[in-house]
Amino acid sequence: MSEQQKVILSVKNLKTYFDVTKGIFTKKQIVKAVDDVSFDVYENETFGLVGESGCGKTTLGRTIVKLYEPESGSIEFEGQDIARLKGNQLISFRKDMQMIFQDPYASLNPRMTVGEIIKEPMIIHNIYNTDAEREQRVVELLKIVGLKPDHIRRYPAEFSGGQRQRIGIARALAVNPKFIVCDEPISALDVSIQAQVVNLLKDIQKEMGLSYLFIAHDLSMVKHISDRIGVMYLGHMVEMGPANDVYHRPLHPYTTALLSAIPIPDPDVAKNKQRIVLGGEVPSPINPPKGCPFCTRCTKATERCNNERPEPIQVGTRIVACHLYER
Ligand code: SF4
Repeated sequence: MSEQQKVILSVKNLKTYFDVTKGIFTKKQIVKAVDDVSFDVYENETFGLVGESGCGKTTLGRTIVKLYEPESGSIEFEGQDIARLKGNQLISFRKDMQMIFQDPYASLNPRMTVGEIIKEPMIIHNIYNTDAEREQRVVELLKIVGLKPDHIRRYPAEFSGGQRQRIGIARALAVNPKFIVCDEPISALDVSIQAQVVNLLKDIQKEMGLSYLFIAHDLSMVKHISDRIGVMYLGHMVEMGPANDVYHRPLHPYTTALLSAIPIPDPDVAKNKQRIVLGGEVPSPINPPKGCPFCTRCTKATERCNNERPEPIQVGTRIVACHLYER
């Protein structure tokens, strides 16, 4: 990112923990879903967040939109600590920061028409004065997301998964947000539809000057849409940097393993590709390893890795948390 680009979202040392203790006589059990994560997102940028399921990326996204309370750390949006927002400031934050959900089937109310679904946030945030103005905006939004104006009176059940996700995108855009957390918006869709939705999000970003936090487990799709990528493992950010660098020259052993698992459509190229199969189990976030979170599965782990947690350090364009890169 260039020096002039303004930070819109700044996350510092964020921890989101959940108490999952069962019964009053059992030992306290805390899931460390997000554990000491820091990163910035710039205006008009897409920051992609990848990792296997259970790595904490969705919890991180939900903490940022204030669906979960963090244990500690800070989240600043346009320079304001969101934990301190109250009254009108909080309402305005909710308008500026929207979310697109993973499941286009569950995230739309089946009893509401498409028009009612998209109008609802406009009514909550008091954006237009009359219903006619809101209706006109719904029609515009339907066109922007590639649906037809006459879809306004239909119900979600009448649409395919890709079309429902387009309705979800229109609903997020209804309040003219500045930032959208896209929580695995393509993972429930057919592969043939995924690229269409990603391209739509890219076009909308260019037109409206939005910033995205784009969460997914498919690194190739994340690379396609993102300016920078952050790789999460067991609640930690293990590598972060420009999308091209992370994708073509991964530093962290976990990123290398994730990339090696991406299928290659060309059989000749695929034949010569070495796939890294990760051994060992993903440790429980209730009882994570004392040292590097990846030490139980890393082929390069040493004794030090088992005992000492690596701090994130700058390596060229990248921030990486791995002892291999410490001098
Ligand atoms: Fe592997 Fe050690 Fe680096 Fe962790 S710190 S990724 S265990 S080499």
